[in-house]
Amino acid sequence: MKLNKNFKNLKDDYLFAEVSKRVDAYKAEFPSADVISLGIGDVTQPLSMKVTEACKSAATDMSTKSGFRGYGPYDGYPFLKNAVIDYYKARGIDIESDEVFITDGAKNGIGNILDLFSEDNTVLVPDPVYPAYVDANVLHGRKIIYADATAENGFLPMPQKRVKADIIYICSPNNPTGAAYTAVQLKCWVDYALDNGAVIIYDAAYEAFIEDGKAARSIFEVTGARDCAVEICSLSKMAGFTGVRCGWTVIPLASPLNRMWLRRQAIKFNGTSYVVQRMAESALRGGLAECKATVAMYKKNAKTIMKKFDELGIEYTGGVNAPYIWFNCGVDSWAFFDYMLKKARLVCTPGSGFGKNGNGWIRLTSFNSAERTEEAIKRFEPFWKEFKDVRSKLFAPVG
Ligand code: PLP
Repeated sequence: MKLNKNFKNLKDDYLFAEVSKRVDAYKAEFPSADVISLGIGDVTQPLSMKVTEACKSAATDMSTKSGFRGYGPYDGYPFLKNAVIDYYKARGIDIESDEVFITDGAKNGIGNILDLFSEDNTVLVPDPVYPAYVDANVLHGRKIIYADATAENGFLPMPQKRVKADIIYICSPNNPTGAAYTAVQLKCWVDYALDNGAVIIYDAAYEAFIEDGKAARSIFEVTGARDCAVEICSLSKMAGFTGVRCGWTVIPLASPLNRMWLRRQAIKFNGTSYVVQRMAESALRGGLAECKATVAMYKKNAKTIMKKFDELGIEYTGGVNAPYIWFNCGVDSWAFFDYMLKKARLVCTPGSGFGKNGNGWIRLTSFNSAERTEEAIKRFEPFWKEFKDVRSKLFAPVG
């Protein structure tokens, strides 16, 4: 038996494990310290009542002779596919039932869709970005190249003619930077993909956080996208489903990937549970207003942070179309993490964990209660003023 040799090329799953390790060490030393985390990438608020009612009612279905379901369709029940179709229709995008594949979350689509592509493709990944794109491709042994996302390009890299890529990941709104592409910008990526025979894997996991009207909510807003793109979405952040697990992938019918993906799912996936699909249906229909209210609450927290950053003159991006605020600390991200934990009992996520361009940057999240976010920001202000005074004395500059 030979093991997958690509495993040795994976970097340790270091970022969040290291954050926890350092926070635990701090708490062990100062057990009474009130530590607030602005580092969490997970939702914190409970499910909507409508979604919970749908869960109970679906569980009851399962306990009756007529309502019981065994294996469901590999690509999801029509009731949920129709809810997804209507969700897109409300934004002026028409998709067909056979183009929607229900999954157990976006991560499933992001990694598993790679089964459809040859290993000698070159993959283009933004830097910084959600680490799963890189890791999933490392496992397959593909060549990975990076599109630099920097303050100069507003953390939204654009295609470059001289760069040749076959598989392109786009994350918009982006984790960790919160930056979101407009349809005009995405059109450049679509044109690039069509010119190069490439595929775009478009991760729209944070689409529900978009509010500025200019940002695209789907790659399928763009002419030509149906000929080169696949869209992956999730109820995780829009409806608090990180623990429930449900999402979807849209693959246009004309693409050979559509039939291949159905076949692939039939081989390796027996579908998302009936109860969860009923909950997801509720989140997209009757429970949508409640889900939107929770997202609005997170967004309000983001505004609390942004307002203070504006007052303090801190360079940042995100927050408007995402639960993430990405700011420049000007020093090694981990050094800043340690210093802020020690001085203000606040936890952040070091930007260097999302790619080399992330060093010198910090990700804060709005996934907390309003009270804790306000308390965090109250602590942050004096901390930042003091940090600015000592920065050049105590730390080497970065970026
Ligand atoms: N895509 C991005 C950009 C994410 O940040 C995350 C989770 O944080 C995911 C996908 C995974 O989402 P899911 O919970 O649907 O698997």
